[in-house]
Amino acid sequence: MNPTEQNNSALGADFLRHDAAPAAGVEGYMEHDAAVYRTLLESTRAIPWKIDWATLEFTYIGPQIEALLGWAPSGWKSVQDWAARMHPEDREKVVDFCVAQSKAGTDHEADYRALTSRGDYVWLRDVVHVVRNASGEVESLVGFMFDISERKRTEEKLLALQCELEALSFKDGLTGVGNRREFDAVLQREWSVARRNNAPLSLVMVDIDFFKSYNDYYGHVQGDECLKRVAGVLSAAVRPGDFVGRFGGEEFVLILPNTGSEAARQVAERCRDRISSAEIAHERSPFRQIVTASFGVGSVMPSAESGDPVEFVNLVDTQLYHAKDNGRDCIAAVSRLG
Ligand code: GH3
Ligand code: MG
Ligand code: MG
Repeated sequence: MNPTEQNNSALGADFLRHDAAPAAGVEGYMEHDAAVYRTLLESTRAIPWKIDWATLEFTYIGPQIEALLGWAPSGWKSVQDWAARMHPEDREKVVDFCVAQSKAGTDHEADYRALTSRGDYVWLRDVVHVVRNASGEVESLVGFMFDISERKRTEEKLLALQCELEALSFKDGLTGVGNRREFDAVLQREWSVARRNNAPLSLVMVDIDFFKSYNDYYGHVQGDECLKRVAGVLSAAVRPGDFVGRFGGEEFVLILPNTGSEAARQVAERCRDRISSAEIAHERSPFRQIVTASFGVGSVMPSAESGDPVEFVNLVDTQLYHAKDNGRDCIAAVSRLG
């Protein structure tokens, strides 16, 4: 008898018993019935198994296991084999859970990655039923292993899509920089961080000059291209950790954490310089017929007395109006560093 046959006959003793057999010809009926059950069990995609609780050894595992994982039924002797073929990241959690549930006599299920003989992993779901004897003691565990790799792949794809969607919901569709929603969230977060660390926080608001006449002259499609170029120039001009967003229309905004008034003005000056150095043609602009922008800059030490982020945004917005009033293509700044 090979180990598989041994396994199968061990299962046959009670796993395949049929108590409702008719009185006449019981032997023949049971034999026939057991064969039917075995055929059914061994032709499903779910893999049946049985473990004796006293020895923690497999008394049966369906031959389908070999097609799925590459290990022959004879290679499944004890729960050690089962645990050893589990992905190291899943092992402790799954083994502890299954042992605890089995000890408590509770049916359970667990998902984990099982090692194949090729060296890769297959996601399995083990559905376990605890079998008790007449006095209620745990006698054995029986269960089915299901190949859930397809489902896991779909779940992972969905999760990745969800993350992508969430990231997109924070980006401006045209320029790819942060959108207004992200600006609000980042400002709130950086305000709290600065307050906690007693650090300065600066904000720069950028508004393209004479953009209405740019659109009128070149059309909206080219207007959009211009917005993309300005967004690219701003993104390249700031440090990692600074935030660049589109506030709306032809207005952009920079959040500069841990930045005082002098450094913030320098950032704004660099941005102003780089936008004009890009020399984006603007026939209707009085400034050398190129695209320019005006800047409002503000610096604050967030505290109980400093007001809230909305007041700060309004303060910086006022600076932007001053820059426009002062002739455009320039910077107006305010400091509330105390
Ligand atoms: P100022 O120098 O005072 O800032 O003048 P301006 O013309 O830039 O300002 P105004 O507010 O009068 O016009 C802004 C223009 O920006 C009007 C609008 O058509 C254009 N605009 C806003 N959003 C978009 C967009 O997504 N794409 C394009 N192409 N144009 C936009
Ligand atoms: Mg504007
Ligand atoms: Mg403008």
